[in-house]
Amino acid sequence: MTTMNAMTQQPANKQCATAYPQGPHDRPQTMCPAFGALRVGLRMRRTATVLSGSACCVYGLTFTSHFYGARRSVGYVPFDSETLVTGKLFEDVRAAVYQQADPEKYDAVVVINLCVPTASGVPLRLLPKDINGVRVIGIDVPGFGVATHAEAKDILAGAMLKYARGEAEQGPVQAPRGGRSDKPTVTLVGEMFPADPVGIGALLEPLGLGCGPVVPTREWRELYAALDGTAIAAIHPFYTNALHEFTTAGRPIVGSAPVGHDGTAAWLESIGSACGVTAAKVAAAKQQWLPAIKGVLAQAPITGRITLSGYEGSELLVARLLIESGADVRYVGTACPRTPWSEPDREWLAAKGVIVTYRATLEQDLQALEEFQPDLVIGTTPVVQKAKQKAIPALYFTNLISARPLMGVAGAGSLAQVVNTALANKSRFDAMKAFFGETGEGYAAGVWEDTPQDHPQFRERYRRQLARQTAAAGSPGGAS
Ligand code: SF4
Repeated sequence: MTTMNAMTQQPANKQCATAYPQGPHDRPQTMCPAFGALRVGLRMRRTATVLSGSACCVYGLTFTSHFYGARRSVGYVPFDSETLVTGKLFEDVRAAVYQQADPEKYDAVVVINLCVPTASGVPLRLLPKDINGVRVIGIDVPGFGVATHAEAKDILAGAMLKYARGEAEQGPVQAPRGGRSDKPTVTLVGEMFPADPVGIGALLEPLGLGCGPVVPTREWRELYAALDGTAIAAIHPFYTNALHEFTTAGRPIVGSAPVGHDGTAAWLESIGSACGVTAAKVAAAKQQWLPAIKGVLAQAPITGRITLSGYEGSELLVARLLIESGADVRYVGTACPRTPWSEPDREWLAAKGVIVTYRATLEQDLQALEEFQPDLVIGTTPVVQKAKQKAIPALYFTNLISARPLMGVAGAGSLAQVVNTALANKSRFDAMKAFFGETGEGYAAGVWEDTPQDHPQFRERYRRQLARQTAAAGSPGGAS
């Protein structure tokens, strides 16, 4: 079934396929992608977020958002077969939007179509664009078209930037809270550790530039200031729709990020050139920051072989930092797609002999673990679980790596402590492995008074039975 995207009038699947190309698998291997868009909406001031989808999906999404401290109600428009097929669901969504659109409380109401309403073509594009001054943003975020929750953040951020760009083109718009910067600013794209924009601001200071808003923004009025940036730093490179809006607004985009010595040097040069800063000022900024970064990296060395994978979009940046700290990184897998904005990082890593895999599958991440026998694995939950089963120290990317600064001087030494502590745990893993042996694995998994006996002959008999059925189904006149 073809459905239309609310913001662009393109078929939802086609639009997703253009912005978020699929990899070797056609469905997410991570959490429900809609969580990304939901989280962006929930983190914005004066923004109501409403989900339209199956109750089980909404249960999971609200549970996860409250687990991550949403402290905000999530709106929900339920449906059944009848309201879905008769079109009543759209009327229910419309009524819910009118009910929510209170200008005293909200700047915007966001409606997110989950898988079933998207596949059924519930036309959010027909919602009013504005109710009593409250903007209405309708987006389709189907799991069958958006491979990661990271990219779902971009769907909402892009839709909001598009709306705000239209408003700015019409006339004066609100200034950011605290007023406009007196310097040209650089807008940062990508959710990052709160200290990172501060660190980046310090790096920009000698260039005569200021740090602008971070997209996804925390408030509607920041969108105008973001669009007003002299240059846009694509710190996370997968924000295809958001970056498209900036390009349409005539803003230059700078890829990569100021990580480590080489990354910071290249980024300062690119930002300087995008913002028309003199070569002398860029050289002075490099002189001010690069020796300091080098010094911190030297004081916090990392020794060990590491494989790394994640779905945050910052995997290549983390790998660069680890390598500059001395680590032997062999493999970087990212669930995000390849874009021009991570090319400088991919090239730098490739020159160091690192295998970089975009749209990496869980199977590829596990294969890397087998192939490179690392001393430490940094990865997603199932990768970390596999590594720990093999007595290899492992760190969760999202909880332990993303929760640290990466940029500039503050980022230079920030990974060493957690990584070195994990590397030093190898002997504890070996002791546990020796103590527990094969307990609780395979057919004996679980807690038993009498450990179950394996019966491989039953498995073999069942395998033969299935093979016979498959052959019969495939032969002419066989069972259907
Ligand atoms: S069915 Fe779709 S909306 Fe529901 S949890 Fe799965 S990916 Fe998310």
